[in-house]
Amino acid sequence: MQRDLFEEEHQLFRETVREFLAREVAPHHDQWEKDGIVPREVWKKAGEIGMFGFGVPEEFGGAGITDFRYNAVIVEEVIAIGASGLGYSLHNDVMAPYFVDLTNDEQKARWLPGFTSGELITAVAMSEPGAGSDLQGIRTTAVREGDHYVLNGQKTFITNGINSDLVVTVAKTDPAAGARGISLLVVERGMEGFSRGRNLEKIGMHAQDTAELFFDNVRVPAANLLGPEEGQGFFQLMANLPQERLSIAVMAVAAAETVLRTTIEYCKSRTAFGRNIGSFQNTRFVLAELDTEVDIARLYVDRCILALNAGELTAVDAAKAKWWTTELQTKVIDRCLQLHGGYGYMMEYPVAKAWVDSRVQTIYGGTTEIMKEIIGRSFGF
Ligand SMILES: Cc1cc2nc3c(=O)[nH]c(=O)nc-3n(C[C@H](O)[C@H](O)[C@H](O)COP(=O)(O)OP(=O)(O)OC[C@H]3O[C@@H](n4cnc5c(N)ncnc54)[C@H](O)[C@@H]3O)c2cc1C
Repeated sequence: MQRDLFEEEHQLFRETVREFLAREVAPHHDQWEKDGIVPREVWKKAGEIGMFGFGVPEEFGGAGITDFRYNAVIVEEVIAIGASGLGYSLHNDVMAPYFVDLTNDEQKARWLPGFTSGELITAVAMSEPGAGSDLQGIRTTAVREGDHYVLNGQKTFITNGINSDLVVTVAKTDPAAGARGISLLVVERGMEGFSRGRNLEKIGMHAQDTAELFFDNVRVPAANLLGPEEGQGFFQLMANLPQERLSIAVMAVAAAETVLRTTIEYCKSRTAFGRNIGSFQNTRFVLAELDTEVDIARLYVDRCILALNAGELTAVDAAKAKWWTTELQTKVIDRCLQLHGGYGYMMEYPVAKAWVDSRVQTIYGGTTEIMKEIIGRSFGF
């Protein structure tokens, strides 16, 4: 089905991104998978060609354009080459609104130029060993002492956890106040008492640094609080989660589509019983079903992108996009792996890497079950 989401300027940008990834990322990604991390240099190189912070005002190095279609272009191109180690989408799609919309002028001047140049890598630290889905169950605290907060606690599963320079950290500033007692503090690389734990060993996304973070009496300046007053963190997170979930949905559809295309090619060339495997009715029916579902998913997600651009994407619609497309992604990739037979289980085939990389998609950014809770609650039961 003809896609009409993008204009000419997005297509031009896509060519720039594709060329950059082919040159600076694709030849090195296997090595980064072994290293467990992506070098910081490749962040700076991406910054040089304008890949970060489109919505950042021009005076701070950005393009001043709020148009999620540019974000989608990057996500799609990164997924197309299987570069699951790049934390660009966390930085660009998830963190940009925190640093653009919730910062004052002084904070903008301090952080945004580095954000757009790729010199300051960002992360968000919500999850803790004892609390993931249940955000209000976090135990990290920040106690105000004069013009500082004293931060104590532990986070886990943090994307860009090793590389990050600015960590938006979720902490309780008033443990008795429930949702109104949570605040967002920007913890900076090098602050005393801030340390990183293990770069966690995952089943997939091996080049992505996902880490534990520890805060031991870290004195965070009150000037690093996001938003005009404390106690707004929970609501700030809720406001930004739809965009994060849409980004994951864009990833999901792109990944499903990429694997589907390579599988169709594989089925044309692989033979069994003297015929190519695409000639079996089962193969064609499986591929036909998956192709149909991916097309439908694409339309819904494209519509969500336009809704986000118009400021109309609801938490419920983003939750629908997130759970349905990520469940579809894991199904598509699993069925495609089956069509590869034993080769599908071999890491040299892209479908195998896509299979392990995709599994987390139904978990992070809010699990499928939590997405259904959000949708279900909207019925007013
Ligand atoms: C690779 C990776 C990267 C991540 N990156 C980040 C990051 O950058 N920053 C960050 O803060 N976090 C990050 N996370 C954490 C992620 O967001 C959490 O893992 C996720 O929200 C689930 O939380 P949990 O792991 O504590 O699971 P739990 O909350 O313990 O859930 C366990 C199971 O119980 C189910 N469950 C929980 N509550 C309910 C309910 N009310 N109804 C029905 N079922 C329920 C869940 O759906 C799940 O199936 C990342 C995780 C991974 C694996």
